[in-house]
Amino acid sequence: MSIASSIQELKKELPSGVKLVAVSKFHPVEAIEEALAAGQAVFGENRPQEFEKKARALQDRGVEWHFIGHLQTNKLKMVLPYADLVQSVDSEHLLSAIDDWGRKNGKVIHVLLELHVAAEETKQGFFEEEVLDIMFRADSYRNVRFCGLMGMATNTDNEEDVRADFARIKAFFDYLRDLFPEYSEFRELSIGMSGDWRLALDYGATMVRIGTAIFGERKSA
Ligand SMILES: *Cc1c(COP(=O)(O)O)cnc(C)c1O
Repeated sequence: MSIASSIQELKKELPSGVKLVAVSKFHPVEAIEEALAAGQAVFGENRPQEFEKKARALQDRGVEWHFIGHLQTNKLKMVLPYADLVQSVDSEHLLSAIDDWGRKNGKVIHVLLELHVAAEETKQGFFEEEVLDIMFRADSYRNVRFCGLMGMATNTDNEEDVRADFARIKAFFDYLRDLFPEYSEFRELSIGMSGDWRLALDYGATMVRIGTAIFGERKSA
């Protein structure tokens, strides 16, 4: 299926309140242009250098850029000037560095906190207690806007395991929303990828991050 028709099929199935983030990592700028021509405006990348290159190549094309990968503090300048949302804040060290960068550059950076829910040890992210601790001190990060949570389910064909991961992140998300009603912008739940986005919709996803199902297989990842 072409990039354009994959996007059209997905948009048909996604409820109107759910944002489709087209994950274009490892695919060329031409693939993004094809998606843009099909009406897709939101793109996600996970490597700082590649992100910066594509963001510069497509300046003034109305792209909404999300950064979704592990970010080292020495690479902030490749990402923060262009990112409309950093979905993958996974440490306090990173959060503080983003806040500092924002202060120095007169910007407020919109972020999601990445929650560790998957069974794999390798997956990045905070534990619930750490997120809670940060949220209680959210006002001290003056140049960060907390917009919600991101999470990745365990990479498995077992639907029950994936559902359990999504249920856990959804429950924690609801708990935070109840606890901090003053943060009205804390409302995004970014869960669901090519293999599990339909399940994620059952757990209140407001954003799905889809690569393979739009652009095809990546050469490496
Ligand atoms: C690569 C990636 C995706 C997209 O994965 P697909 O299975 O190709 O849809 C989503 N989220 C993150 C964080 C990723 O790194």
